[in-house]
Amino acid sequence: MFRTTAAIIIAASLLLSACGVQEDTSAEKTTPENEPASTVQSGLNDSSETAETDQPTAQDNPELTKDKEPTEDKQKQKIAKTYHMNENYYIKPNDEHGEKKVVLLTFDDGPKEKEMINGLIDTLDKHNAKAIFFVNGYRVESHPELLKIIHERGQIIGNHAWDHEDLKKMSTTQAVKQVTDVQDIVKDTIGVEPEFFRPPFGSGNDALKAAVQKNGMLYMTWSNGSLDWDKSTKNKPEKVIQNVLDQLNPGSNILMHELPWTVDALDELLTKLDKKGYSFVDPRSIELEAR
Ligand SMILES: [Zn+2]
Repeated sequence: MFRTTAAIIIAASLLLSACGVQEDTSAEKTTPENEPASTVQSGLNDSSETAETDQPTAQDNPELTKDKEPTEDKQKQKIAKTYHMNENYYIKPNDEHGEKKVVLLTFDDGPKEKEMINGLIDTLDKHNAKAIFFVNGYRVESHPELLKIIHERGQIIGNHAWDHEDLKKMSTTQAVKQVTDVQDIVKDTIGVEPEFFRPPFGSGNDALKAAVQKNGMLYMTWSNGSLDWDKSTKNKPEKVIQNVLDQLNPGSNILMHELPWTVDALDELLTKLDKKGYSFVDPRSIELEAR
């Protein structure tokens, strides 16, 4: 069924090129998304695979065998595509009477550390929210077990290129390889390929966009930058929250990162968004073709 979708997308990608004018609506888009140099692997939480053992076994409870693996696929099928992304990377309901006050939550540049990932997902679970974790291939290669945690805990994996480099400065062949290598390693690790792509620094061109669509993915940058990567927010969860609220609009596509102060900010941020009447769009309900 995923293949069918992919085929439709490939066909549809011929229509593409609403992409020419992209980076002008949001002030954030002109600000390059920096890789925060200070958060390179601390190596603190590398012993990642210990936590799984205290689960009851399938023999103890036959129900578990039933529920165990294909739930993710089933869920995917069940989730109706009720939203789409517009050319400015905002998320809009397909039905004009649909709920407009939604945000898309995204976390880039992981997977780095088990503790941060579980911290983010604990909070997402508390708020019944799904997010896209845009991962770099080189990090997945170092920590495949962290990718598995994100997937097994029911969050959505996105492709953020193999290296965190400016794809616009590469040849098309190199840039496309940056994309497909991540599809491959993610598929090898968790059994499914990402359906969302975000280029490092939000920097891409039409050839890259076409290649991304050809690989069955929705290409996006963002429409609300939390600036959590910026020096001005380092160790300041309250600034992350304020930055998001300052730019909040119905359909905001919120860029955040796997960073300690973002982990700390998330619960309060989601609580505030909720109080303002926003809900968290399930990424799987977004059509894989912008319009
Ligand atoms: Zn990034």
